[in-house]
Amino acid sequence: MADRRTTSGSARPVLVAGGGPVGVMAALALARQGLAVRLFEADDHVNEAPRAATTHPATLEMLADLGLIDEVIRRGLVARTFQFWDRSSGRMVAEFDHGVLKDDTRYPFVVQCEQHKLANLGIERLGAFAHAEVRFSARVTSVEVLADRVEITVESAGKTEQVAGSFLVGADGGRSTVRKALGIAFEGYTFPERFLVLTTPFDFAAHRGCGFRCYFSDPDEWANLFKVAGNDGTGLWRVVFPTQPGETDQQVLNEDSVQRRLQKFFPQDGPYPVVHRNLYNVHQRVAATFRQGRAFLAGDAAHVNNPIGGLGLNCGIHDAVELAGLIGRVVRDGEPEDLLGRYDQRRRPINIEYVQQQTINNKKRLEEKDPQARAASFAFLRRTADDPVAHRAFLLRTSLLESLRS
Ligand SMILES: Cc1cc2nc3c(=O)[nH]c(=O)nc-3n(C[C@H](O)[C@H](O)[C@H](O)COP(=O)(O)OP(=O)(O)OC[C@H]3O[C@@H](n4cnc5c(N)ncnc54)[C@H](O)[C@@H]3O)c2cc1C
Repeated sequence: MADRRTTSGSARPVLVAGGGPVGVMAALALARQGLAVRLFEADDHVNEAPRAATTHPATLEMLADLGLIDEVIRRGLVARTFQFWDRSSGRMVAEFDHGVLKDDTRYPFVVQCEQHKLANLGIERLGAFAHAEVRFSARVTSVEVLADRVEITVESAGKTEQVAGSFLVGADGGRSTVRKALGIAFEGYTFPERFLVLTTPFDFAAHRGCGFRCYFSDPDEWANLFKVAGNDGTGLWRVVFPTQPGETDQQVLNEDSVQRRLQKFFPQDGPYPVVHRNLYNVHQRVAATFRQGRAFLAGDAAHVNNPIGGLGLNCGIHDAVELAGLIGRVVRDGEPEDLLGRYDQRRRPINIEYVQQQTINNKKRLEEKDPQARAASFAFLRRTADDPVAHRAFLLRTSLLESLRS
């Protein structure tokens, strides 16, 4: 049950920069402990661009603790399995079934729930707490970390105000103003190619026998395929392709090019209906530290990675929940502030070991060109899927359960 107590009137609120899913989950996890929280989102609404959807078992457990699980399942799609395909032969290589985790988690499946639905759901729940404030069209522009407080500048409707808080959660995305204001390096690299996401109602399950999550390996053009519920629940499919380095937006997004890519992926009679076309720059980067005194980085502000495997947001929600727990222990329970050091000590290596490594390997596996290496990779996937012990171990890692229990 949520604890509805508020902190004493004199206690400063915890400030959150960014109303994406990570900032909202951090605010909710703080508010549920009775801590006063003020969230500032630069935009005037939650961004609905098609990005994360896959919510793994470890994250579902946290969403259950936040009282959100039933609604996340209702607004999303449950997917127990995922598949690896060889795009060049058109054959499925291996299928993995989260059902083998039935003794490891209450949620032996993923839920495909679009990230804007999660953020909006969290904001709805924050509305029930008198001690939680969510402000849209409010951009954090500067940060000062002091011994006993943080001070931020917020720009809203042409006005500037100074806001003081006990702590600051910088959840303001990959281009984080908070991270830059703190002078924290974002170490890593950016891929030369971009990722194109095409969204269509064309039913790949009915017409092509695909599951709700499919990874297609191909030496020429790998692809990912996912089903999401869509805003009206009727179902949409997202197909992800790499672009060629140097291809312009116009070259990638024009109708002919989009139809050519989709027809080459799965030929069908007539043009594909395409409801969204989005291009993303893709990076593997981790902030040099996730903490500077009373200021913390969480989610994409702290780490970014390619989306193959669907791990970035999941790891960001884990950041948010762990950080809120530590701040709660310090503010509510009076534990020493040294405890907050655990956040960077734990979350940064977890991101590197479980998220950066897996997503880099996932991309290599899909784009591998060498025939022998491809054959070896397929043999590994088949062997792993066929062996119950290896199958479970593989899923404990891909689902991030291992990272939390480490
Ligand atoms: C194609 C694609 C597919 C993906 N699929 C998955 C997936 O299936 N599973 C998964 O786990 N991850 C996935 N990801 C990654 C996921 O989208 C990100 O990890 C996620 O958006 C991170 O959430 P966030 O809240 O940290 O940042 P964001 O979603 O970027 O939110 C940051 C928010 O901060 C606001 N903001 C920015 N600057 C300021 C400021 N100065 N002041 C106030 N507000 C500010 C922004 O407007 C924004 O609302 C995918 C990414 C892509 C591109």
